[in-house]
Amino acid sequence: MSSAPQAKTPATRSIEGKETPVLLTPGPLTTSARVKEAMLRDWGSRDPAFVALSQGVFDRIRALSGGTAEDHVCVPLQGSGTFAVEAMLTTFVGAGERVLLLVNGAYGHRMADICRKSGRAVEIYEVAETEVHDPAEVSRRLRLDPAIAFVAMVHCETTSGLLNPLEDIASCVRAEGRWLLVDSMSGFGALSVDMSGLELAAMAASSNKCLQGVPGLGFVVCRKELLEAARGRAPSVVLDLQAQAAALANGGQWRFTPPTHVIAALDAALAELEEEGGPPARLERYSQNLATLLSGMDRLGFQPALDPARQAPVIASFVEPADDWFSFETFYEALRARGFAIYAGKMTGRGTFRVGVIGAIDSLTIEAFLTATKAVVSEMKQKVIS
Ligand SMILES: *Cc1c(COP(=O)(O)O)cnc(C)c1O
Repeated sequence: MSSAPQAKTPATRSIEGKETPVLLTPGPLTTSARVKEAMLRDWGSRDPAFVALSQGVFDRIRALSGGTAEDHVCVPLQGSGTFAVEAMLTTFVGAGERVLLLVNGAYGHRMADICRKSGRAVEIYEVAETEVHDPAEVSRRLRLDPAIAFVAMVHCETTSGLLNPLEDIASCVRAEGRWLLVDSMSGFGALSVDMSGLELAAMAASSNKCLQGVPGLGFVVCRKELLEAARGRAPSVVLDLQAQAAALANGGQWRFTPPTHVIAALDAALAELEEEGGPPARLERYSQNLATLLSGMDRLGFQPALDPARQAPVIASFVEPADDWFSFETFYEALRARGFAIYAGKMTGRGTFRVGVIGAIDSLTIEAFLTATKAVVSEMKQKVIS
């Protein structure tokens, strides 16, 4: 028999004979073959070639965030994204200072937990998971309490997929003379973050979301002068951004074992981002993925949990059908058997499930997912009738 290469749907990609699913999740997510292949060699952590590789990666991330070499630095941190968020909050917010947290989902609550556990005084301004904060109310609270030195917010609230108004909040925080700390974990690499233009104090993100690398590295891009002022503030050795940055600035050596393969993969992922046309081009691709997903899911009878005007092109939450035929476990397993991994919901109050539109996927992948979903839905409905 001839062995002409078979056209493969994205869902049946196989790598060295191992079937690999399409991850429609907010990270880890589907990475390209080139990113995976970048992990096929070993690096000595103190090897000058690795030091140069990692420095190049952090300089490019700093530039992508709109930071300048003079005023900003990208400080990498071993671990997942939350490690970077905790390092950011506890390095910058001093023990005697207060932080105003803008909460409208689980990642905002997580920042509150970090502050409480580390003894940072917090004030919480919480709105519903489907709503955004009012900048006028942020200004009012800042005027009432001069002890609030920092405001912290989540850029895209991955709990629901909601886009928070970063520019509006940044301008009111700046007008009141305070500093803004941003968790842009699920946005950075696609959504615009301009450290200089918005005069942000710091922004935390990770390797495995819109940068389309593999998990294992968090980072914080921040203002050098604030990092210097924060010397000795962090209550933790490993999560001390100032100490981490100081060691790296002194010869490029990491204090503790770096995730070498993750950084090599991130180097390849950044090259892909540049070739794609940078964050605006990536945002455009994700926006097309989202539009395809929302219209296709609407045709299949699924309701989005958010007002589409508040939806970031990152991950979408759908309301679980209340009908007898639906069970998330069965739905998940049947889609997984067809090569697609979706994500459980995280919104409080009502049942939802999530579908990510980020990663090395395009609207053809989403079309294939919709075809699979259509088949799964009719199969599940059939079971209830028979
Ligand atoms: C993914 C994510 C994080 C970090 O989560 P980890 O599981 O620690 O990587 C933090 N904030 C937001 C908004 C996220 O989407």
